Amino acid sequence: MGRDITQCHPRLQEAFKQLAVKCNAQGLTIGLGECFRTVAEQDALYEQGRTKPGNIVTNARGSSYSSQHQWGIAFDFYRNDGQGAYNESGDFFRRVGQVAKSLGLGWGGDWTSIIDKPHLYLPDWGSGTNILKQQYGTFDKFKQTWEASHKVWSYQTIGTGAARVEITASSLIIRDAPGGKDTGGRYYKGDRIAPLKKALSGSERWFETDRGWISADYLQGWILEDGRWWYLQPGYIYPTGRLEIIDGKCYSFDYAGWMITGDRIQPDGEVI
Ligand SMILES: [Zn+2]
Repeated sequence: MGRDITQCHPRLQEAFKQLAVKCNAQGLTIGLGECFRTVAEQDALYEQGRTKPGNIVTNARGSSYSSQHQWGIAFDFYRNDGQGAYNESGDFFRRVGQVAKSLGLGWGGDWTSIIDKPHLYLPDWGSGTNILKQQYGTFDKFKQTWEASHKVWSYQTIGTGAARVEITASSLIIRDAPGGKDTGGRYYKGDRIAPLKKALSGSERWFETDRGWISADYLQGWILEDGRWWYLQPGYIYPTGRLEIIDGKCYSFDYAGWMITGDRIQPDGEVI
């Protein structure tokens, strides 16, 4: 069964790292047990204590997706100080549970139907899996939301000139965040906007306006950034290392895409 925390929700991975450090500081040495569990693995566990030897350890069949382990939001820990993996002396499991709760995790030791002291989970969707099942239906759909919620955006303040920046798409969705929810608002082809900020993450580019966030792929116009100008074209391309005729005037751009201004040209013609 899977002891690979990287298959779990990114926030759970982060919480496990912090938990191990905080527990160590209190003399509680923990090991990482089960993390992500497939349907077949969950079914095998369900049979334990029913058709197979051992104690009943779960009420969840694999096909029901009722174990938090099947949603990547839970992991189990064990005692790893040589005293026995499930030795509770010194109130070991409750103390680890307390540390975990201080980090925002839920602890299976607080459950009542089957008390599960080695079990820790992200409590955002309650203590079970019903909300996940209703909201996402399948694990794959749920997993698709992990990326979006953990995208690291870099934000930068930008501006534009008097002509502002023109919308080139026939209709452009206004969202509540970079790649966020549709606010219902739209810009239309030929509208002119004044961007306030840009947000970049990997190949995704978004601009903020006073009405919300829009994809930066359907815009054309001058952008002022760090006191310098560059010229944005649809598809988020911009002229570099060449001359470009824009609105009937000729402009020169350096290899990074910055417009070359007179103050950057030295008497011998060198551009700085
Ligand atoms: Zn568990």
